[in-house]
Amino acid sequence: MTNITRRHFGIMAGASLSALGLPILSAPSLAQGKPRVVVIGGGPGGATAARYIAKESNGAIDVTLIEPLKTFTTCFFSNLYVGGFRDYKSLTHNYDKVRKGGVKVVHSMAASIDRDKKQVVLAGGGRVPYDRLLVAPGIDIKFDSVPGYSEKAAEVMPHAWKPGAQTQLLVKKLNALKDGDQIVMIAPPNPYRCPPGPYERVSMFAHVLKKKGFKKSRIVILDPKPAFSKQGVFTEGWEKHYPGMIEWQDPKIHGGIKGVDAKTGEVKTDFTNYKPALVNVIPAQMAGKIARDAGLANQSGFCPIDAASMKSTVDPNIFVVGDASIAGEMPKSAFSANSQAKVAAMVIRAELTKSRAFPARYSNTCWSLIAPDDNIKVGASYEPVDGAIKASNSFVSQRNESADLRKQNYKESVDWYQGITTDIFG
Ligand SMILES: Cc1cc2nc3c(=O)[nH]c(=O)nc-3n(C[C@H](O)[C@H](O)[C@H](O)COP(=O)(O)OP(=O)(O)OC[C@H]3O[C@@H](n4cnc5c(N)ncnc54)[C@H](O)[C@@H]3O)c2cc1C
Repeated sequence: MTNITRRHFGIMAGASLSALGLPILSAPSLAQGKPRVVVIGGGPGGATAARYIAKESNGAIDVTLIEPLKTFTTCFFSNLYVGGFRDYKSLTHNYDKVRKGGVKVVHSMAASIDRDKKQVVLAGGGRVPYDRLLVAPGIDIKFDSVPGYSEKAAEVMPHAWKPGAQTQLLVKKLNALKDGDQIVMIAPPNPYRCPPGPYERVSMFAHVLKKKGFKKSRIVILDPKPAFSKQGVFTEGWEKHYPGMIEWQDPKIHGGIKGVDAKTGEVKTDFTNYKPALVNVIPAQMAGKIARDAGLANQSGFCPIDAASMKSTVDPNIFVVGDASIAGEMPKSAFSANSQAKVAAMVIRAELTKSRAFPARYSNTCWSLIAPDDNIKVGASYEPVDGAIKASNSFVSQRNESADLRKQNYKESVDWYQGITTDIFG
C-alpha cells in the first residue's frame, strides 16, 4: 500500500467508524507501525497495566483501555464508607491522568473478543485490533448460587460486592435501622474477592449500631465456609468492641443456607427462618463475562494463567490479571491485581519491544478495620514455584496486640489507599 492509499484507507476506516459514533482506533497505530496493546477493564488490574505499559515503553507501544465507566468507584475502602469513616466521593476516581499518561481511553463495553482475528469487538460494533490483549474485567456475581436470589432481589437485599449503587443502597438501609432490628449477612464461598471483606463489613455494621447507642440489634453471619480469613483476630475484636452483638454460624450450626425470599424478606437455613430488617447477600463469584465468553476460563469460572507472566494458558496473546484470574495462593484483592498488572505489563513490554523482563515477584496485604483505630492485616510476598504462584514471608495480625500497633496498621492502610489509587489512576 502506498503512502497515499494507506492514508486514504485510514481516513475511510475512520470515517465509517465515526459515522457509527465509534472512536478511530486502528489508523494511528497502523500508520506509526507501533505494536498495539488493548486492555479490557479499567479497575486496579487493567488501569495499572495500561499506565505501566505506556510509561515503560516510552511511547513505543500503542495502548488502548476499554472501560464503560467514566468514573471508577473502588470496592476497596467501601467498608469504611459503610462505617462512616469515608465519604462516597473519596472512593471515586476518573481516567484523566490515565489519558495524560499516553493511554487512549475508550468508554465502551467490550462485547466480545475475536481471538482468531486478534480484535476486540465493542458494544457498538467497532473493532479494536491488538498484538497483545490484557483482560481484567473483575468478577460477575453468581446470583443463582443462593436459591431465590437474583439481580432483581439485589435491589431489596443488596450484595454490594460490586461498587456503586449497590454500596449506596446498603448504606441507606443500614442507616434506616432502628434499635432491635436484625441484620443477616450471607457470606460467600471460596474463592471470592477480598477474603476478609465480609467480616470487615460486619465490623462496620456493628460500629454504626454501637455509635447509635443500639443495645438490642444483632448481626448474624451465615457462612458456607467452616473458617474465614483472620478469624481469630476478628472474633477477638468483636468480643472486645461489640460484645454479644455478632453471631457467626458455620455450616455445622446453620445446617445449610436454603435460600432467600426478596418479597417476604425471609432468609431460610436448615434450622431457622429469619426475617431481618437488613439482608446482605454475598453470593459465589466468577470471572467477568467477557473472559468466560472468550473461552479464557476453566470449569471453576476463573481464568488459568502462567505463574511467571500472568499470560492466559489458553491464548499466548492474552494476559488475564486481577479477580478474573486464578493466581495460585494470591487472594483476589486490589493489591494483588495491581501487583499482577505490573508483572504482565513488564512481560508485554519485553515481548513487544524486544527488551528485558525480570523474574516475576508479587505481593499483597489486606488491612481490615474492626473499630476506630483497631486495624488488623494479613499479607505475603509471592513468586512462581513449580508453575504456581506460591506465598512466602507471610504475616498476619495476632491476638492481644497493642493498641498502638493496631493504630499504626490503620494509618498504614490509609496511606496505602492513597498510594495505590495514585498508582492505578495516576
Ligand atoms: C467490600 C470490599 C472491600 C474490599 N477491600 C479491599 C481492600 O481493602 N484491599 C484490597 O486490596 N482489595 C479489596 N477489595 C477487592 C478489590 O476491590 C478487588 O479485588 C479489585 O477491585 C479487583 O480489581 P480488578 O481490576 O480485577 O477488577 P475490578 O475492580 O472489578 O475492575 C474491573 C473493571 O472492568 C470493567 N469491565 C468489566 N467487563 C468489561 C467489559 N466487557 N468491557 C470493558 N470493561 C469491562 C468494569 O467496569 C470494571 O471497571 C474489596 C472488595 C470488596 C467488595
